[in-house]
Amino acid sequence: MTLRAVPKPERRKKTKKVAPSIMQDKKECFITGATQNLHRHEVFFGTDKRQKSLEWGCWVYLRGDLHNQSKRGVHFNAELDKQLKQLCQRHFEKLYGADKFREVFGKSYL
Ligand SMILES: [Zn+2]
Repeated sequence: MTLRAVPKPERRKKTKKVAPSIMQDKKECFITGATQNLHRHEVFFGTDKRQKSLEWGCWVYLRGDLHNQSKRGVHFNAELDKQLKQLCQRHFEKLYGADKFREVFGKSYL
């Protein structure tokens, strides 16, 4: 009789690196302080920037309606989007310098 190999534990998908947010240290909506219905928002989103935002801590928690569940949300609200990007860039540059920001994100939002 052949012994069956013990099944290997299911391999976990490679988890991508997510650095702690440079914008906040509490798990609450960055704008309202709400603690319910929170979404993680990568400040510099889009195909190539999303992962960089996660790696460099350029993300915030937002209440769903301020994220993408209403027209006021950052994904539909260019003004709010711009404010968050500029604020985040300033935080980043304080920590790592302006050259590094351009190196990582390729442009300035200021
Ligand atoms: Zn988002």
